[in-house]
Amino acid sequence: MPETTLVWLRNDLRISDNPALADALKHDRPVHALYVLENDRGLRPMGAAAKAWLHQSLNVLSHALAERGVRLHYQEGESGSLLPRFAKEINASAIYWNRRYDPAGRTHDKTLKASLRENGHVVESFNASLLVEPWDIATQSGTPYGVFTPFWKTLRDKAIPDPIGRIEKHEKITSPKLDMPKAPFWSDGIFDAWTPGEDSAKSALAAFLEDALSDYPQGRDVPSRDVTSRLSPYLRHGEIGPRQVWFATRHLIDANPSRTSAGEKFLSELAWREFSYHLLFHRPDISQHPMQERFADIDWRTDTKALHAWQKGQTGIPIVDAGMRQLWTTGWMHNRVRMLTASLISKNLLLDWRKGEQWFWDTLVDADPANNPASWQWVAGCGADAAPYFRIFNPVTQGEKFDPNGDYVRQWVPELSDLPDKWVHKPADAPGSVLAQSGVELGKTYPKPIVDLKTSRTRALEALAR
Ligand code: FAD
Repeated sequence: MPETTLVWLRNDLRISDNPALADALKHDRPVHALYVLENDRGLRPMGAAAKAWLHQSLNVLSHALAERGVRLHYQEGESGSLLPRFAKEINASAIYWNRRYDPAGRTHDKTLKASLRENGHVVESFNASLLVEPWDIATQSGTPYGVFTPFWKTLRDKAIPDPIGRIEKHEKITSPKLDMPKAPFWSDGIFDAWTPGEDSAKSALAAFLEDALSDYPQGRDVPSRDVTSRLSPYLRHGEIGPRQVWFATRHLIDANPSRTSAGEKFLSELAWREFSYHLLFHRPDISQHPMQERFADIDWRTDTKALHAWQKGQTGIPIVDAGMRQLWTTGWMHNRVRMLTASLISKNLLLDWRKGEQWFWDTLVDADPANNPASWQWVAGCGADAAPYFRIFNPVTQGEKFDPNGDYVRQWVPELSDLPDKWVHKPADAPGSVLAQSGVELGKTYPKPIVDLKTSRTRALEALAR
């Protein structure tokens, strides 16, 4: 059998700006790509919605790879044993992959790399998913950053490499049928809302830069408006890389200086993703352990009924319910509403933020090993550069501010759609006659609030004070 090259795909499901793939295609050897849905000990298993997305994405990628002469294979199990076995089967002399940054994944990859090299394989790894890798950015004293603004200032001045241009092509092959599970029954809403794959990612970026960027600084906090990029699931699965987003935005700013401030705002949000990866890399398991040690011993409440009401969007607090239902239906939630739903559970309900993080992990199509836990810790007040523990969002006033006409609530909580704007964020305060006219019967057509916002705020302040 001729010698081949193996590309181990992970969070880099794209053809363009994929350094591992580009390098593999430089050599005059057949190239195979392998995706392993990993269940090795210590690695965090992928959540359900992200997995549904993954399968669709791999189907799309399989065709694109075949066009370039690369056959994609799919396996489930322990990458630690499957990868070496598969490399042997296809007689791979070289194995390439793009790096990941969670401590468990890194240890795993390091061990695997060493043992593959010992067995005579050439093994190389690359950066496909960050603008700057964690070891290439540090404070002046050489320590990791713990605060976002100085991190962003340093990142902005770094020389970010341009994305890789055209890649070599091998002769086209017939696209293989991947042996993967069928889309689960609950994923219809997700795929009504999204089309996974690299082409969709590129179109989303182009449409955002063309139509929405100018409105981004003001509009990004308004959940009923479609002015954020919605690139998060594509970035999560690597269907687009941050260098591509950076480069396209910079290019646009250079050509249209009037869009500089909107463009910079957008890039600074992209930099939050980099910051989350910086934290993920430098800290112990951030999905399990608070980054600020003084929050390690909080006496969280146990309240399964409240947890389920939150998960199902039945808390009786309209903007929270709208967000939780948007999440359940489409696998995505607007950033402002993510903050409000996370604040309600970790502060007003005083339930362990890890329970909320795990629910998001299972239901978000963009469930990200760095962004999800880092953002949860930010809202819960125990993260790096976090909102202080005493900052407790009031979801009613936040709703009135960012969803003033109740458009978002009406979309996702249709049983409240006939309420006047004045009451749509606080039906429990509305006069009985208004509720009756709007067809709302609290406790029957829509729940009464499961928590009193005022007293629960005081309870949280007492429990979280450190
Ligand atoms: P845009 O505003 O268009 O931003 C572009 C990109 O920048 C995003 O795709 C994302 O990669 C990055 N970004 C933007 N805002 C943030 C932020 N605050 N923190 C980190 N990166 C950011 N984001 C995820 O990608 N995966 C998650 O699992 C995730 N979980 C979250 C959980 C909570 C509790 C909160 C409050 C936020 C979470 N976020 C997560 C961050 C943010 O909500 C999403 O990245 C954003 O809503 C995605 O929409 P967009 O692509 O339209 O964002």
